[in-house]
Amino acid sequence: MLWIGSHVSFNKEEQLLGSMREALCYGATTFMFYTGAPQNTRRYPIDKEITKQALMEIKKRGLDTSKIIVHAPYIVNLANEDEEKHQFSIRFLQEEVKRCEKLNMSYLVLHPGSHVGCGVDKGIDNIIDGLNKILPSSSVIVLLETMAGKGSEIGSKLEEIKRIIDGVVEKDKIGVCLDTCHLHDAGYDMNNFDEFLTLFDKIVGLKYLKCIHINDSKNPSDSHKDRHENIGFGYIGFNNLLKIIYHDKLKDIPKILETPYIDRLYPPYKLEIEMIRKKKFNKNLLEDVKTSSK
Ligand code: FE
Ligand code: FE
Ligand code: ZN
Repeated sequence: MLWIGSHVSFNKEEQLLGSMREALCYGATTFMFYTGAPQNTRRYPIDKEITKQALMEIKKRGLDTSKIIVHAPYIVNLANEDEEKHQFSIRFLQEEVKRCEKLNMSYLVLHPGSHVGCGVDKGIDNIIDGLNKILPSSSVIVLLETMAGKGSEIGSKLEEIKRIIDGVVEKDKIGVCLDTCHLHDAGYDMNNFDEFLTLFDKIVGLKYLKCIHINDSKNPSDSHKDRHENIGFGYIGFNNLLKIIYHDKLKDIPKILETPYIDRLYPPYKLEIEMIRKKKFNKNLLEDVKTSSK
C-alpha cells in the first residue's frame, strides 16, 4: 500500500471525522492535521463520540491510524530563551500530546524551534530541556521536522537533529519527519536521494525516520526560503519526488503533501495524488484543479 495523503483541516464541529472525510475525497490513504489553526494555540476539547465514530470508520476503510500524523502549531518554540515563552511552549505541547492520545494518534510533528538570537547551542539545549519535560508522560512519539533554515531556525542540518536526539532521555519517544522542500532549501541535493538517505542513516539513523512531507520548492537549493510549490512545478521536480515517494526503503513511511492551494482557494491534493499514482506529470494541473473545483 502506498501511504500518501495531505494536510487536511480539523474543525471544531466534525473534528477527526471531518479530517478523514476530506482525506478520502482526495483519494488519500493517510493524512495530517493540526488540532486547531496552525498559526495559533487556541484549541477546542476533543469530542469522544466523534473520535470513536471516526476511528471506527478509519478501520472500516482499511486505513491505519499509525500512519496518520498530527502537526503541532508552528508558533510554539521550545528553543526560545525567554522563560515565559519556553514554559508556555512546554505546557502547550503537554496538552497537545494529551489531545493526540485522546484521538488515538501516535505521531506529533514538531518544528524544533528558532533560537531567535540566543544562538544554536543554547537553542538546542532549550529544545532538549523542553522535550525531556514533555516526553516522560507521553505515549506519543514526537517527530522533529527538518527545517529550511529560515531566520534562526534550528534543524536545517542533520547534525542539529542528531544533537537534539542525543540529549533526549526517552529515545523511543523521539523520531524525525523529513520535508523535501526544507531539505532542498537547506542545501541537501534531492537529485540523489539514495545518497541523502545514506548520509541520514550515518548521522541520525534511519530507524528514527517516521514521516516525510512531500513538497516541491519555489526556490533553488540552499535558498533557506521555505516556500512550498506544487508537485513537479518547482526546483526539485516531478521525477525526483516520485523516486522519493516510491523509494524501497521508505515503503511503510507515510508521505504527506503540504503543497499550496491554487489561487489560495482550491486544494490541489486530489489531482496531485492522482498524478503520483499514475506516475505521470500533468502540466495542466493548476488549471485542472480550478476547473474540477468549480
Ligand atoms: Fe512543518
Ligand atoms: Fe513540512
Ligand atoms: Zn515548510
